[in-house]
Amino acid sequence: MSLSCINKGGSQSLIRLPVSPRLEVEKVFYGSLLRSLACWQARPGDIVTVCDPHGKFFRARLTRLTPSEARLVVFSPLSFPPESFLRIDLFQALPQRERFELILEKATEIGVSRIIPFSCRRSITVTERDARQRKSHRWPEVVLRAAKQCRRGTIPELLPVLPWQEALAEAGAAKAVFVFSEREESRRLRDAAAAVSSVRHAALWIGPEGGFTEEEITEMELAGFVAVSLGGRILRTETAAVAGMVMIQHMLGDLG
Ligand code: SAM
Repeated sequence: MSLSCINKGGSQSLIRLPVSPRLEVEKVFYGSLLRSLACWQARPGDIVTVCDPHGKFFRARLTRLTPSEARLVVFSPLSFPPESFLRIDLFQALPQRERFELILEKATEIGVSRIIPFSCRRSITVTERDARQRKSHRWPEVVLRAAKQCRRGTIPELLPVLPWQEALAEAGAAKAVFVFSEREESRRLRDAAAAVSSVRHAALWIGPEGGFTEEEITEMELAGFVAVSLGGRILRTETAAVAGMVMIQHMLGDLG
């Protein structure tokens, strides 16, 4: 069973036009398009990314918004779609300080589909983190701002911080699951990704500042996840997340 997100992300946020647009012509819309606009907290004057029935993306200006109708002027087609054909689930051990906010922002820009923070043996819990400075309530806003800024067509889904076992259960849907391990000595991410070049749904697991324990790595390998190395340097957890996302989106998806 897939868990629901804590933001207004995923397909509900895709602003679907019922017909192909005529550029620079104001049009009135009703119904589900208004609910998608609400996910983006759109206001009159905002520029949004919209999608036509053929999957083509455009930029549009919201000229009027009432509870029952929205008026949009679609003004320019996007040459490259802002949504990747590769679905990426980022499983991130909850890091300390502002590192998670940085990961949320950068993963959104690189094209993540779902972000799943989890707790494990050596990670901080959300209660411990919020006890120092309560920031977790701002996470959906960080994702939304990043999605707007980079002109995404959908807002990535952000899940609540999951306990270890629940996070493991949530990884089942991906066709390739890579566990980033600084202790992996032979398998490089680039080789593991090249071996699954036709995969359209991948998951990345990044450990906490203290790394995964031996038992956690073993548990993940037993679940069929593939342990990979990013090379000889030990990266900070947020660097590993960004580097891993870039590599996967570049090798299997639409980056570059
Ligand atoms: N405590 C570990 C140590 O000092 O050896 C370092 C953990 S590292 C800071 C945090 C996480 O980033 C790791 O659990 C892993 O997921 C990822 N990571 C960092 N460097 C990596 C590398 N060279 N290859 C694969 N994963 C790496």
